[in-house]
Amino acid sequence: MSDSPPPPEEPTSLETLNIRNLSIKCGQCETYQTLLRFERHGEWNVYTYECENETCAPEVTRTLLEVPAELDVFARRDPQWRGGQRWGGAE
Ligand SMILES: [Zn+2]
Repeated sequence: MSDSPPPPEEPTSLETLNIRNLSIKCGQCETYQTLLRFERHGEWNVYTYECENETCAPEVTRTLLEVPAELDVFARRDPQWRGGQRWGGAE
C-alpha cells in the first residue's frame, strides 16, 4: 500500500452561518426567544426574535440578528424564506 493522499477538505470549512445552529436567549427572562420575522436589508439578512411569554414586552426585549447574506446558509437553502412574507405574521 502506498501513501494515500489526505482526504479533501470538507466544504463546510467555508465560512458559513446557519441560524438554525444558534439559539437566542433573553437576558431578562432567561428563556429562548422565538424567530418571528425575516427580512433582507441589502447585504444583510435580519432575523427578529421575540420572547413569547407574559414576562417580557416584545418591543423591549426584541432581538435583531443580522447575518451577512453571503454567509447565510439558512435563508439560501429554504426557498420559503425568500421575501419572508410567511413569517411576517400575515397569512
Ligand atoms: Zn424575555
